[in-house]
Amino acid sequence: MLYLALLFIITAGVLLWQSSRQRAQAGLPGGRIVYTDTRAWGRIQKPLFSRELGLTGKPDYLVEQDGVVIPVEVKSGRTPDAPYDSHIFQVAAYCLLVDKTYGKRPPYGIIHYSSRDFAVDYAPQLESALLDQLAEIRRDETRTNVRRSHEDQARCRKCGFRRVCDQSLA
Ligand code: SF4
Repeated sequence: MLYLALLFIITAGVLLWQSSRQRAQAGLPGGRIVYTDTRAWGRIQKPLFSRELGLTGKPDYLVEQDGVVIPVEVKSGRTPDAPYDSHIFQVAAYCLLVDKTYGKRPPYGIIHYSSRDFAVDYAPQLESALLDQLAEIRRDETRTNVRRSHEDQARCRKCGFRRVCDQSLA
């Protein structure tokens, strides 16, 4: 009996240690994981979706802290000095989807780079810039002539439309 109790305690300890290690590696804040897009936690859920906004997204994690759901996006590769704009808007889009899905606005989202985390304040100004971008994307979908939005040759080199695109830089 004592042997079984010891085995149970050791197994529980190992599981707890593994769970906290995975949590630390993913840069997750404390709280309950309510959504994950990764296999690491054995649960993959449907994307978040807003018909009204025509927006869908799969955050890497959603963590609930005191009734508030925080999106966490994990990025591999080099850690920048400040988060890239595209990553900020991605996390802002998840905050917007969380607000629409759970009916509660997250105060911030987290971008986890390999050696540093950034909390992105989901301020009204960021939400408004995001809504402007979404409106622009919807307008562009109906236009036949859309101007290039960047000066990045590498992006054009990797683009599958570059052979037919009259604005390609590559
Ligand atoms: S090739 Fe054209 S569509 Fe592709 S990234 Fe460059 S500008 Fe955009």
